[in-house]
Parts: sequence; structure tokens; C-alpha cells
Amino acid sequence: MTLIIGGGVYGAAVAWHLAKRGEAVELLEAKTVASGASGGPGRRGVRANCRDHRELPLMARARRIWPELHETLGTEPLFEQTGHLQLIERPVDLPRAQTRAALQTRFGIPTSFLSEAEMRELEPGVAPFVQAALHCPGDGVAFHARTTKAYAEMAVKAGATIREGVKVERLVTRDGKVVAVATADGDEIPVPGRLFILANSGVRSLISPWLDLPTWNLALQVLVSKPLTDNPVRHLVGHASRILSLKREPDGRLMISGGRLGSWNHATGRGTPIPEEVAANVADAVAVYPALEGIEIDAADTDHLEADSIDGIPVIDRLPGNPHVIYAAGWTGHGWAIAPAVTELLADWALEDRRPDLLAPFAFGRFAAG
Ligand SMILES: Cc1cc2nc3c(=O)[nH]c(=O)nc-3n(C[C@H](O)[C@H](O)[C@H](O)COP(=O)(O)OP(=O)(O)OC[C@H]3O[C@@H](n4cnc5c(N)ncnc54)[C@H](O)[C@@H]3O)c2cc1C
Repeated sequence: MTLIIGGGVYGAAVAWHLAKRGEAVELLEAKTVASGASGGPGRRGVRANCRDHRELPLMARARRIWPELHETLGTEPLFEQTGHLQLIERPVDLPRAQTRAALQTRFGIPTSFLSEAEMRELEPGVAPFVQAALHCPGDGVAFHARTTKAYAEMAVKAGATIREGVKVERLVTRDGKVVAVATADGDEIPVPGRLFILANSGVRSLISPWLDLPTWNLALQVLVSKPLTDNPVRHLVGHASRILSLKREPDGRLMISGGRLGSWNHATGRGTPIPEEVAANVADAVAVYPALEGIEIDAADTDHLEADSIDGIPVIDRLPGNPHVIYAAGWTGHGWAIAPAVTELLADWALEDRRPDLLAPFAFGRFAAG
């Protein structure tokens, strides 16, 4: 029997992978499935381009899953291969981009360094000062809330139980071993077998009696424009020196994000956009795509917390002294794209009782002093 805390993409997909392999699974979600970082407006980037090299093998594996995932989950298409362009406007960023192209290609992620002319052919709307781009044609975007809910539905079909509105307050131990979880309603739910703590922004506090996880929570900002008659953005677009990510929505809207933040209210569990951050995100988008001048923002969303980690990659490990407990957090704004691969590996880890090699770089031990 496996208990899972967290009904985002990680919890839902691990629940499905385990349930379809015959495991009894119960998932506890504080709010509703896909209400955290795996929910919210628009789509999420499925981007290998410019990732930490330790995540590239996971991304190469996820790339093989994404195009057919909707068939496996029995939904309409979830992933669109748009290609990703990392735009470069400062000469100082050129050598790094050229080096990256070679590194990513070596990891099985074909990547080209594009000259200005090559870049303008693919993305004609960019401002004159953009000098070059790093192009990853296999990247794209995916419907995150739909995918997460589809994983959850498949998990339930395979026999898993999903309980929404159940917040885990703390882990209950006997002789140092986690034996149950205590909920906010005062219940104790036993952990008869394994426990996965996949609660993203909630992981750090749950495991704080064991570890001081070097992660913190952020209310990432996403802006959605009103529909544009002539949206100049063709690819999933990032930028080497501006806090900017652009996605074109199927209905012609533009999503503007990239890592700007709202403020978080712990009492209400809601985020509030900060007008200066909204204005700065829009200003960067307009600077890079002059045709966006006058763009109107329909929605500014900061309601979905993500945990950042100190070195920009997640921490995925067993809880000390508790080999039956696995936690994962600290996706740092790019945990979506690798989720289909990581969740398969997490299920393997649980069932085969051996850490998959691809997950070894994410162990907590990398922070150990000395
Ligand atoms: C605005 C935004 C934009 C992003 N853009 C991208 C992108 O373009 N590309 C990309 O790769 N990644 C992106 N990410 C990151 C990606 O969405 C996340 O890394 C990923 O969705 C994390 O999934 P998760 O299941 O770990 O977390 P979540 O989806 O946050 O799920 C965790 C769940 O645990 C529940 N929970 C928390 N504490 C408890 C508790 N104590 N008890 C019970 N349940 C609990 C929460 O309610 C939540 O539903 C973005 C994230 C955000 C917020």
C-alpha cells in the first residue's frame, strides 16, 4: 500500500504508475487535484533548452513520452511541439549559447545556434536588437491542468483512491519511523507501506523535523492577454537576459511569464499580483516584440505556488532513517516538462527498491557539508 501526499502532476502521475502496476494507492490532496503549480491558466512550457545539464537526461526521456501521452491517457492532444527559441541580445551571452548548443545536442536534445538571419526567418517579429537565438525544435507546450487531471482519472480507473480536501499537518513517527500522517481535521492515516511526499510547496515543512531542505516558495506570475488578431509570437520563447517567457495560446492570446513574482498571503492561500511586476513583464514583451505595443492583459495570475531550490534543480530522495518515504520538491519553475519521466522513475524506485541512476544527481547529499 502506498500513500501519496499531493495531487499535482507528480502525485497524480505516480499514483497512476503504481496503481496500474497493481499497487494499492491512496492520495491525499489538501485542496483539489491540479490546484497548485500544476493548475492555473494557459499551458506550461515543455522545454529542454537552457536546462541544467543534470536534468537533460530526464528531459530526453520525457521528450519520448510527451507526443503520445494523450493517447496513453485517453484524452485530446495535450502537447504541441512549437520549438523553443532562447533569444539573445547581448554579445556577452553568445559564447555561452554556442557552448550550450553542443552540450544539449550531446545529451540527445538537438539544438542549433541560429545567426540573426536564421533566427528572423523563424521568428520575424522580434526587435532589431535581438542578435541570435538558441533553437530547440523538439520543445513545446502542454496543457498542465488537463494533463494532471487526466493522470488522476487514470489512477482512479486503475484502482487508486484520491481524497481531496485532506491536508496533512505532520508526519507521525514511532521510534523514528514514519508510521502515519496527521491531518488538519485531526485524523491519523496509517502508512502501512510506502509514503511519497509530493506536495511541492508543502514538502519543506512536512520534512523539517528531519531535514532543512534548501527550498522556498514563490508565487510565480503568469499574464494572459486578450485575444490578439495578429499574434507575432510563433514559438515558445525565452530570453537570455530578460525575465521573459512567451507562449502563444491556440485562441490567439499571449501568455507572458518567465519568473516574475506576486506576493503571497499565507492566511488566504492566495497570491496578489504586484502592479510593477506586471508592468515590467509587459514592457519586456513589448520591447522584444514591438508589434505587441498596446497589448491588453486579461488576467494576472499569482495563485500557484512553486518551490525553488538553492541550486536550481529539485531535491528527490529518501527521508533519513525512513527508506519507505520518498520526497521530491524544488522544481524551480521547470518541473512540469520532466514530470512524465520523473514520475515513471519514482514508481520504479518504489517497486524495485533501488534509486534509478537518472535520479542520483538530485539526492539531498549534494548539500552535505564537507
Ligand atoms: C506559474 C507557473 C508557471 C510554470 N511554468 C512552467 C513551465 O513553463 N515549464 C515547466 O517545466 N514548469 C513550469 N512550472 C513548474 C511546474 O508547473 C511545477 O514544477 C509542477 O507543476 C510541480 O508539480 P507538483 O505536483 O510537484 O506540485 P503541485 O502541482 O504544486 O502539487 C502539489 C499539491 O500538493 C498539495 N499539498 C501541499 N501541501 C499539502 C499537504 N500538507 N497535504 C496535502 N496536500 C498538500 C497542494 O495543494 C498541491 O495541489 C511553472 C509553475 C508555475 C507556478
